[in-house]
Amino acid sequence: MSEQRLRSAQLYEEALQHIVGGVNSPSRSFKAVGGGAPVFMDRAEGAYFYDVDGNQYIDYLAAYGPIITGHAHPHITEAIVAAASKGTLFGTPTELEIKLAKMLKQAIPSMDKVRFVNSGTEAVMTTIRVARAYTGRNKIIKFAGCYHGHSDLVLVAAGSGPSTLGIPDSAGIPTSIAHEVITVPYNDVPALEEALQAWGAETAAVMIEPIVGNFGMVMPHPGYLEAVCKLARQAGALVIYDEVISGFRFHYGSTQTYAAFPDHAAIEPDLTALGKIIGGGLPIGAYGGRKEIMEKVAPLGPAYQAGTMAGNPASISAGIACLEVLQTPGIYEEMERLASKLKHGLLEAAKRNGIALTINQIRGSLSTHFCDHEVTNYEQAQDTDGELFGRFFKGMLAEGINLAPSKYEAWFLTIAHTEADIDRTIEAAHKVMKSL
Ligand code: PMP
Repeated sequence: MSEQRLRSAQLYEEALQHIVGGVNSPSRSFKAVGGGAPVFMDRAEGAYFYDVDGNQYIDYLAAYGPIITGHAHPHITEAIVAAASKGTLFGTPTELEIKLAKMLKQAIPSMDKVRFVNSGTEAVMTTIRVARAYTGRNKIIKFAGCYHGHSDLVLVAAGSGPSTLGIPDSAGIPTSIAHEVITVPYNDVPALEEALQAWGAETAAVMIEPIVGNFGMVMPHPGYLEAVCKLARQAGALVIYDEVISGFRFHYGSTQTYAAFPDHAAIEPDLTALGKIIGGGLPIGAYGGRKEIMEKVAPLGPAYQAGTMAGNPASISAGIACLEVLQTPGIYEEMERLASKLKHGLLEAAKRNGIALTINQIRGSLSTHFCDHEVTNYEQAQDTDGELFGRFFKGMLAEGINLAPSKYEAWFLTIAHTEADIDRTIEAAHKVMKSL
């Protein structure tokens, strides 16, 4: 693998002149891994990326989750081309939207009614508005380290204790808005109890990633989600599941219906936010939930939400095609098998080189944490060696393995990854870890 990325470096310099920070999403910059020019991609196919310098990479970024079928899957590409050739945007309803809505409802029965939007951020932001409209309350309880997009209410960090009000996580968010948010640690029932004791009567919703994808991949402790839902409902608050990552990631459906995770009952939230995979790689988001709650949304109800691009035929067609591919029997099991092999290979490489490494694998996804303790909450995920991860990341890139440039992000397998790709990745990890 050539380490030459001259063209990427040139393009980055040029991008810096015109695009803020040179990137259109901060997570694409290499700031969290010690800096440098991000790799500019030219094209992608299956499990592989090809950059502007002609280097090939095995891709585990999967565009932060959506690309579960592998890049440029022919069934999805054909669907996009067919849709685009009939017109890209109508501003009127289409039959396609009904088809995707029915597919989502069938896979996620808690969604009596669905509304399509353009991103996960929009989907989550609107579930909060709808929960507030339905309950007549303002406050939101969320969990430390869970990411829910960049809208004001969810970019709020924890206060100093579980029952203190939040402080803004970003400039430009008024303290008055941050004061409507309470952040508690994930996998910690007493902390949630304490927060609800203090603020329960004012809380519109408890919002959670039921399986976390944003401080690594983290499972809820057995019984945790049951406790979260029970406590929220006792306080008269709604439960919002942010399944923007977890929707269709671990099986065909969401975590709500998933009996195959041992020790986890299927629990239906009141509202669900979706995105990523359901658009097959084009921009999309969706939210939905119980009929009487969703009927608060305009034009039926007083909670306003709209979108010029919402339900556009290209995104909807890509989403339908993606879900069709995901109905192929055995594909989730195969992604899990390969992810498990990858996990064991990485752990072996770390062990041989005396490197402390914890891996959380959930089905076809995993996260690497350079530490000697378990990672079940954000605090533990923070308490890991980011500098070492940065060097590992850059070493893997030089070996032709593309990971997300952050110690908190997941590795996603796709149905395009092969045994040979996994072997090549493990081999690269041995080489890189030896050099760290
Ligand atoms: N919710 C979760 C759980 C996410 O991981 C993300 C994005 N990574 C979002 C919401 C926001 O989605 P988008 O980037 O499409 O706005």
